[in-house]
Amino acid sequence: MKKIVVTGSTGSVGCQALAAARLLGIGVSGLSACSNVKLLEQQIREFLPKFVLVEEEKAYRNLKASVKDLNVKILCGSAIADLISVAEDLVINCVVGIAGLKTTLATLNAGKKLALANKESLVVAGELVMNLVTQHATQILPVDSEHSAIFQCLMAGKKEEVKALILTASGGPFRGKTREFLKNVSINQVLKHPNWQMGKKISVDSATLMNKGFEILEAMWLFGVDLKKIKVVVHPQSVVHSMVEFVDNSIISQMGTPDMAGVIAYALTFPRRIKSVVKELDLVKIKLLEFEEVDHNVFRGISLAKKSVTLGKLYPCVLNAANEQLVELFLEGKIKFLEIDEMLEMCLESANLKNVEITEEALVQADSWAREYVLSHV
Ligand code: MG
Repeated sequence: MKKIVVTGSTGSVGCQALAAARLLGIGVSGLSACSNVKLLEQQIREFLPKFVLVEEEKAYRNLKASVKDLNVKILCGSAIADLISVAEDLVINCVVGIAGLKTTLATLNAGKKLALANKESLVVAGELVMNLVTQHATQILPVDSEHSAIFQCLMAGKKEEVKALILTASGGPFRGKTREFLKNVSINQVLKHPNWQMGKKISVDSATLMNKGFEILEAMWLFGVDLKKIKVVVHPQSVVHSMVEFVDNSIISQMGTPDMAGVIAYALTFPRRIKSVVKELDLVKIKLLEFEEVDHNVFRGISLAKKSVTLGKLYPCVLNAANEQLVELFLEGKIKFLEIDEMLEMCLESANLKNVEITEEALVQADSWAREYVLSHV
């Protein structure tokens, strides 16, 4: 087995990626994290990577001192291309938020395979990212349960035979609730996802259904399918991870125990399937699989995401940046839950970026405009 690089290794998915590497006997030649030096040091001592990149200057100095007994090179800040260079074959990008775009671009530019848990890369810069995939003849393996499912289901037919991609959504912790109920929900209520164990940011996005909105854009770019052909159904059991409908009205689904470990292992070992790392699915015990429509009046994340695409190329970036900022403010207890989608709506309407072409520089500007907009309006 070849050696991989794991970026964002101290986050929720990053830790699970390393657990998979440990279990599958995959070597790790590079790690990166933002600032959690303590956990990063433990990971370095276990996996003995060649290069480690730390985002923050202070964390960099602390880490350098604490692992000076080891033969590992600690890099700081912008040295992402150096880190990617030690991946023999594949990089798994587990960074949370738009910060992960750097890993995505550097990996594809180096012509390496990318296992992508950072959906923001595709949401915000899908056009740039997919152009690089073609240009360097490389591949993205999705590390998102819905997209991994669709990736697998698509093998049942030809691309021109696809009628629709059907993403499933658990509905989050507030399925069936009203806007009135959502007015005063607490941070703890928001973070209690019924089926999946996830980091805080994505848990909030699941409660607003913004996560599902972003996943529509992720699927649109990753599979090159028109927005009109991507549907969402609420499926509270999270057993059907997503589906593909073909022109003959056959629907192919991928099912399994809801556990990211399975999704990660599939991406790391593709095209092989390995003996399972997740619990067997007992359909008789589950008995019932339900499907419902999304209540778009209560949950606006999906319509906001679709709207952003129709407004212009930089609007998904605005939506994502504003959302990152709003989620942070919500988790700090500074705004209420419903203010998230209300502010997102306002922010999209106030942006003046129609017809602006998508470049890395334009993305940076749109991102900081949206964050400033949010901070000056809450
Ligand atoms: Mg997902």
